Formats: sequence, structure tokens, C-alpha cells
Amino acid sequence: MKTTYFGRCIFLSWYCEKGSCKFCFRSTIKHHIKHAKNAKRSLASILTDAIIGKNLGWKIEFLTGGYGIFDFNEIVKIAKHVSEIYNENIWVNLGALKKEEMEKLKPYVEGICASIETIEPKLHDSICPEKPIKPYSDMLKLAKELGFKTSITIVVGLGEKKEDFKLLADYIKRYKLDGITFYALKPVKDTPYTKSPSPEYYAWWIKQTRESFPNIKIMAGLTPKKVDYTKLILEAGADAITKFPAIKQFNSEKARLIEKMAGQAGRKFEGSLTQLPDVNWDKEVENLDIDDKLKEDVKYKLKQYLAKMSS
Ligand code: SF4
Repeated sequence: MKTTYFGRCIFLSWYCEKGSCKFCFRSTIKHHIKHAKNAKRSLASILTDAIIGKNLGWKIEFLTGGYGIFDFNEIVKIAKHVSEIYNENIWVNLGALKKEEMEKLKPYVEGICASIETIEPKLHDSICPEKPIKPYSDMLKLAKELGFKTSITIVVGLGEKKEDFKLLADYIKRYKLDGITFYALKPVKDTPYTKSPSPEYYAWWIKQTRESFPNIKIMAGLTPKKVDYTKLILEAGADAITKFPAIKQFNSEKARLIEKMAGQAGRKFEGSLTQLPDVNWDKEVENLDIDDKLKEDVKYKLKQYLAKMSS
């Protein structure tokens, strides 16, 4: 039986220094007021997220956020710790990385993802005025030369047309991408967008990509509000799902529906969004190569997270 799983993004901070992409919640004034430029997520909280994810059978979609906020050496340290927890190299999505930065990440990182958002150049530049595609394309090319796997993220529903699929297919071929992550646009208040794409239209992009690229890894984001199209996107060819707030919504009705629909799509769901495994959590922390103070902080955070997940 074919399998599927949940891919979890681990955020390093909630602030974005660009903050001007027209669809993004980080472009709203409200977000900027709530999340200060220097607001970093604590290392204890990041490691807690990773420990829970590993034990629940979630894969890491990528480490993301924090570029320009953390010192790069701190990001490398975080990537090292998270890869140790998972006992494998991980993926990152940290903006347009320079060669030296990629080289520093190399011992802990398997793949590099670029947030392209939308592929048609004119549409892209009007939606993401401060985030041109070229530096990301250059990074993807260089990342391959340095031996990384590569992927991109695409948001469906930003005004692209079906005929733009040709541009996407050309891009996947040109940069020899190993993966692609699709998201369905979630309209955010105070942005020009008011509508999500229909599940059928979202699935169309996934299906086209699967038919053209049978071996590429396709991840599909679910919006937390509605997850009842899980079956449709898995049947369209997505390998796995992402973007679901799995800790906050652990064992919720939606989490149960995702697992059920995976079964209806003929997939065995690896890991769990609904059941906590029997784990000696303190021992998981003791095994980490971190100082005692940080161990105590992680244990404390773990208790908080696990209590939330069991309630
Ligand atoms: S889409 Fe990415 S780069 Fe653009 S504002 Fe949002 S977080 Fe920042």
C-alpha cells in the first residue's frame, strides 16, 4: 500500500524582513505590530518542536523564517541540533542563500527550498515586489552544484492561469528540482485577496505536475480551516501534506479527518496526528548534545506542548 505522511515546517521566527508580498499575512500592519523584528523563537521551543515531530513520525518539511534576524551561525547551530534529533540531514527554506552560507549548512542539510510563490514573471513581480525570482533561481542552480537537493514553493490562487503550467514545468526541468510544495492561497484580511482557489483547481496543479514529473516529491499544504480536500489532493498525486497546525490541532476533528481521508485515498498514514506515542520524553532530551540549562528549558517546554496536545 502506498504511504503518506505529514511534513512539518519548523519556524525560527515569525517576522519577515521583506514583509511586502501582497498575499502574505506578514505584509499586514497587524502582523508587524504583533511580531517585532527582533522577536526570535527560543532554541528550546524549536528543539521541542523537533523532538515532538520526530516521535510522532512527522518529517521535516523545512526549517524556515529567521533570515536576517538570527546571526547565520546561530541558524547553522539550529540546523545541526535539529538534524541530530532527526538523525538525518534536513531541508531549509531561508531566503536566497549565498554560497558560503550553503557551505556552512552542508553537514546538516540535505535540501534547499526556494519560495517562488508564483511562476509567471510579471505576476510574480507585482505580487512580490521585493523578492525577485532571479536570486532564488541562482541559488537553486548553485545548490545543485554543491550537492544539495532542491525544491520550490508555489501558491495556487494568486492570479496565475492554467496555461502558466508550462512555465512551471520548464522551471522544474531547468533547475532539475527534486521537489515542489504547493499551497492553496488562504485569503488574509487587509490584503487584496478574498478567495481561496477551489479544491478542484488546486488539485489540477498537483495532477499536472505529477503527470509531467512522475518522480518528483510533491507536498501539498492544507489550510487549517478546511481539510476535507485531503483525499482529492492525495489522489491528484501529492506525496504528503503540510502546513496543517499539527500541534495546535492535535487529535482534533480535522486531524482525524486527514488520517481518515488518507485511508480513503488508498494511503497508509505514517506517523500520527491523533495519538501520542508512549515515549520517555525526558530521556529524549537527556540524549541531546546540549548544555544542562537548555535541557531543562526543553523539558519544561515539552511538558507544556504535550499537555496542550493531550487536552
Ligand atoms: S511571502 Fe515570504 S517573503 Fe513575502 S512577505 Fe510573506 S514571509 Fe515575507
